[in-house]
Amino acid sequence: MTRFGTWQPKIRGKLFYNWPQGACEEALCFNDADQLGSKPYDVVIVGAGVVGCGLAYQLSQYELRVLLVDRLHDVGEGTSKANSAIIHTGYDAKPGSLESKLLHEASADWPGLAARLKIPLDPIGGIMMAVTDEQERQLEAAEKNAHANRATDVRILSAAEIREREPNASPNVRGGLLVPGESLVDPFMASIAYAEIALANGVDILLGADIAGVELGQPPGAPLHHLVTADGHRLPARRIVNVAGLGSRRLADGYGGGAFDINPRRGQFLLFDKSARPLVQHILLPVPTAHTKGVLVAPTIFGNLLAGPTAEDLPLDDPAATHTTVEGIRRVVEGGSRLVDGLARQPVIATYAGARCACSQGSYV
Ligand SMILES: Cc1cc2nc3c(=O)[nH]c(=O)nc-3n(C[C@H](O)[C@H](O)[C@H](O)COP(=O)(O)OP(=O)(O)OC[C@H]3O[C@@H](n4cnc5c(N)ncnc54)[C@H](O)[C@@H]3O)c2cc1C
Repeated sequence: MTRFGTWQPKIRGKLFYNWPQGACEEALCFNDADQLGSKPYDVVIVGAGVVGCGLAYQLSQYELRVLLVDRLHDVGEGTSKANSAIIHTGYDAKPGSLESKLLHEASADWPGLAARLKIPLDPIGGIMMAVTDEQERQLEAAEKNAHANRATDVRILSAAEIREREPNASPNVRGGLLVPGESLVDPFMASIAYAEIALANGVDILLGADIAGVELGQPPGAPLHHLVTADGHRLPARRIVNVAGLGSRRLADGYGGGAFDINPRRGQFLLFDKSARPLVQHILLPVPTAHTKGVLVAPTIFGNLLAGPTAEDLPLDDPAATHTTVEGIRRVVEGGSRLVDGLARQPVIATYAGARCACSQGSYV
């Protein structure tokens, strides 16, 4: 337990890249499963997004042999690098749901966790803004919902109170909900810091290894399974954790892992120049609809401003799942401009898109 969360000067884990010979330093090149040692892993985590890296960090406090695997060239290169980068309080979740419980607990943990990970977290707070009469009528229910989710500091603001806090709020603003607990985080460093500490604490990491199949131990119930990479390496594991994000369904199909569907729901963003940062002081959120939380406008932890995301359902293997489109960007500008006056005149430095896991069985399967 003493090692947990502390930086170790001596790296105890091994880092390998499953890249062609010559593509990386020889010592880091993975070409044989024997390089990982003769003992099977107690746990192999498939997917080095923020969830897999966070799990590796947690498990690294125990005396376990753990391997973290990803098909991409670095950790946090999937959905974890293309999102709104907000630590939510869960004020708008369904009270009593697992999502409400997890968001409440996680948002309380984050300040301490960010300090341990040595990553920036900015508790800037959010304002959900009603810009139509219909949305204004929803504020009271939204406040009650927030309190039921234990976000007890959430309260209704008048239009004048919003303008005082947000001088560039849309002239259509009717009122809103102050959500003091919403924070900004560095989405890239969250995965990297988790993984670096896990590695230092003894977790092995294998990158560039696409897990194509799972051979369950035989006879059924036998304690040793194998993960098989697309290029034929077999990785022995007592336990396998499938946190492969959009790839998790295909992996689960390989071991009869349950009937659920996962499809990408694309979210496109605009990133504005740092000169646009003074335009807003909080995370500005629209009143959500049944389908989407809508387009928000928020500072980033790096001092830029971002607007997005869209919510576009795409087929699982659509190679465009992380592309931006003219139509998507138009919708982001339109949505953001409903909240912030003058947004469309700000200089844009980049566009990007991330793909959420949309699951018709609900958020958690
Ligand atoms: C538009 C948008 C906005 C969002 N905004 C927020 C927000 O503000 N706050 C928030 O908390 N969350 C937000 N999210 C959600 C958040 O980004 C995700 O919940 C989180 O990143 C999921 O992490 P993950 O580790 O499960 O998935 P991922 O980051 O996708 O990681 C899965 C990993 O598995 C790997 N993989 C897949 N298949 C295989 C295979 N066969 N073999 C080996 N590796 C494999 C992938 O390469 C990937 O690296 C947003 C998401 C989107 C898309």
